[in-house]
Amino acid sequence: MRNIAVVLAGGTGSRMYNKAIRSTGSRSALLPKQFLALAGRTVIEHSIETFNNHSAIDEVAVVVHPDWRSRMEEIAAAAQWEKLGKIIDGGSERYMSSLNAIMAYIDEPDDTNLLLHDAARPWVSTEIVDRVVAGLQHHEAVGVAVPSTDTVWEVHPDLNGEWGMENEEFIMPRFVARIPERKLMWRAQTPQAFRLPLIRDAYQRALQDPQFQATDDCGVVRKYMPGTKIAVVEGSDRNLKVTTPQDLVALEQILING
Ligand code: C5P
Repeated sequence: MRNIAVVLAGGTGSRMYNKAIRSTGSRSALLPKQFLALAGRTVIEHSIETFNNHSAIDEVAVVVHPDWRSRMEEIAAAAQWEKLGKIIDGGSERYMSSLNAIMAYIDEPDDTNLLLHDAARPWVSTEIVDRVVAGLQHHEAVGVAVPSTDTVWEVHPDLNGEWGMENEEFIMPRFVARIPERKLMWRAQTPQAFRLPLIRDAYQRALQDPQFQATDDCGVVRKYMPGTKIAVVEGSDRNLKVTTPQDLVALEQILING
């Protein structure tokens, strides 16, 4: 069995950019979030490092937006990661970046596992990767998540309602549609790992669906390969994703406070 970690860094960070410009006017927010500085390196270097240093990982691939390929190549040349394999072009949505990575490894043997990870989660730990790899011994699909300490609401917009203002943005009115039982709610993180034939077949089916959209790869398997059990292993609150400038501050704090 061969484990290939795919670090997804194809995003251009527009959510971060918009929020940062509004709140601070900071120019550094023009960089996609995975290329921002964190503890002396870029966010993506931390993400790649954990997989490169993990004994169960055989190869690391990176998916980047074509505009950022040369920057990524410079970072890789300086870092000299011995397991770094392909640098793959990203797509316009996260799921297209995942798809490009799957296609890049489509000819690998069936016992290959792909571990798809958000570059924007720099503090993924060796222990989390251990749990995912252990899960793959028995399951075709493994996701990382943490139990929700907040009650999670499903909230629907009222398309016919009157628009209001919130944080200087126009918003539709919205209402609580469903309150699932809190003890059953977990917050999904990455990596999400799959046997290659499973994730390949899930995406092949998804591409036949004109309504296809997804925010994570387990969602694609769940929807298009509904018979498949996705095992859940515990993540960590430290494995948070950079989305806003405040997240970068929180990630620095995690490093300082442990
Ligand atoms: O946008 P979001 O926060 O969900 O992105 C999660 C990860 O997916 C980030 O590391 C981002 O770079 C990556 N991504 C990607 N291709 C895209 C959009 C996001 O690889 N088109």
